[in-house]
Amino acid sequence: MRKFFRLILSAALASAATQSPAQTRPPATGTPKLLVVISIDQFSADLFDEYRPHFTGGLARLARGTAFSNGYQAHAGTETCPGHSTILTGSHPAHTGIIANVWIDQSLTRSDRTVYCAEDERVPGSSTTHYTVSPMHLRVPTLGDLLKQQSPASLNVAVAGKDRAAVMMGGHNVDQRWYWDGKTFSTDLKSAAVPATVTKAKAAVAAAIATARPPLDVPPFSQAKSAPVAVTPELTVGNGRFVRAAGDVRAFRASPELDGAVLAIAAGLIQEMRLGRDNAPDVLSVGLSATDYVGHGLGPGGGEMCLQMLSLDRSLGDFFRTLDAEKIDYAVVLTADHGGVDIPERLRSKGIAQAARADPALGTADIGKAIAAKLHLNGPVLLGDLASDVWIDRSLSPRDRTRAEREAIAIYKAHPQVEAVFTARQIARMPLPTRSPDSWSIADRVRASFDPQRSGDIYVVLKQDVSPIAKPGPGYVSTHGSVWDYDRRVPILFWRRGMTSSSRPDHIATVDILPTLAAEIGVPLSRPLDGHCLSIQGVTCPSR
Ligand SMILES: [Zn+2]
Repeated sequence: MRKFFRLILSAALASAATQSPAQTRPPATGTPKLLVVISIDQFSADLFDEYRPHFTGGLARLARGTAFSNGYQAHAGTETCPGHSTILTGSHPAHTGIIANVWIDQSLTRSDRTVYCAEDERVPGSSTTHYTVSPMHLRVPTLGDLLKQQSPASLNVAVAGKDRAAVMMGGHNVDQRWYWDGKTFSTDLKSAAVPATVTKAKAAVAAAIATARPPLDVPPFSQAKSAPVAVTPELTVGNGRFVRAAGDVRAFRASPELDGAVLAIAAGLIQEMRLGRDNAPDVLSVGLSATDYVGHGLGPGGGEMCLQMLSLDRSLGDFFRTLDAEKIDYAVVLTADHGGVDIPERLRSKGIAQAARADPALGTADIGKAIAAKLHLNGPVLLGDLASDVWIDRSLSPRDRTRAEREAIAIYKAHPQVEAVFTARQIARMPLPTRSPDSWSIADRVRASFDPQRSGDIYVVLKQDVSPIAKPGPGYVSTHGSVWDYDRRVPILFWRRGMTSSSRPDHIATVDILPTLAAEIGVPLSRPLDGHCLSIQGVTCPSR
């Protein structure tokens, strides 16, 4: 999506973006002046492994740094908000407080008791879908927050395709924060003047959306993956080419265009704000969300994801070349907020016979109704979605709540698609796991997602390869969020100019990123964290 680099950046920088790489300069030494932290939404380690041999751009460059293909978003609730909350805090969701994208707060007086992770529900009129963006639910500081405490001249900037990505990676004290709000790029910062880069970007994106987009070319490698699969009699995926009608904003979001625009804004802000130009190190967080929208809408196993991966690789290459042209001494870490798994319809065609969609009867509404009928109770009895956190209606008497909980556990446990059910009491008694994340039990994973104020009364775990999307439809055919490794395992790639290429098989976690970056730029950590500093080239970890 080079057009956004041309439209948003200065002419010199835009042409640098598309030129071949500059001659190799000597390896970087000392403290990097700019940390670029990139999260690709839903970029599973499975996707990274599959496409790694085909990357030639920015992802190929990072894969030649210190590349961990066994990174983990270690916790159970592998959703976007919790995942982004771990990347720059060194903390599991049990400590960040971000247990899910949304949770139910039964003490709220508004009729909508579902709270969005990045909203300020105290604002009058706020709801789960029409909300005021805020970092208030994040219980811990981010790397940028810690850096600015120590070094007030340092800048902390976040740009993303989703508000929750920009909020959870940027944190509480940001100098600029911009995210796609569904129509244009917005910020939650009241006082900030709009940078010229963002004004240009808004105009460039509006003009792009107003014009229809022709189909993308399918390179030979993607043609092999481009085959139609029927999800429902009305809905086929697999061979799309990102055609967009003029004015179709949703199609813009679920395409390589979104990431191209976000990366061009990130590059423009680096230039305009002079990030990485003085001795106070700066942090830039970049949330690239299109992979997630492509995954949800079309599944990660088809020709569309192939086009998205190759486009993103190229856009990242363009982005890094602009930083090279600016001669900035920068270090990069790239990871993902969670993984993902393909649609059961395509998995079955590949021989994964147990892949299935969840029984719609597992929804809390249906199970709640059955319990109400059996125990002669009123109201919904259960609140929440299909699986994961389930809340018991607080308006019931304590005695009825206990009876309802017992009944709910029995119903869930008897269902053939349910792997395990835990009560909040069971999980609260467990210590947070500290072993290597590949060896965690399912209960360990649930524990790392547990917050006593926000979590449900019951946690329901579906069996592996059971998609919680019981009824797929346009834009929503596959998802993530489970305790299984296809949703937990993500790449973690560290890169800096001159780094010796190293592919590391060790099992690490996204909570290890903050302690590692803090050591790299000399930010002292005053409180214990869930993650540990990683021994990689250019980083001297403090002795434990
Ligand atoms: Zn996500």
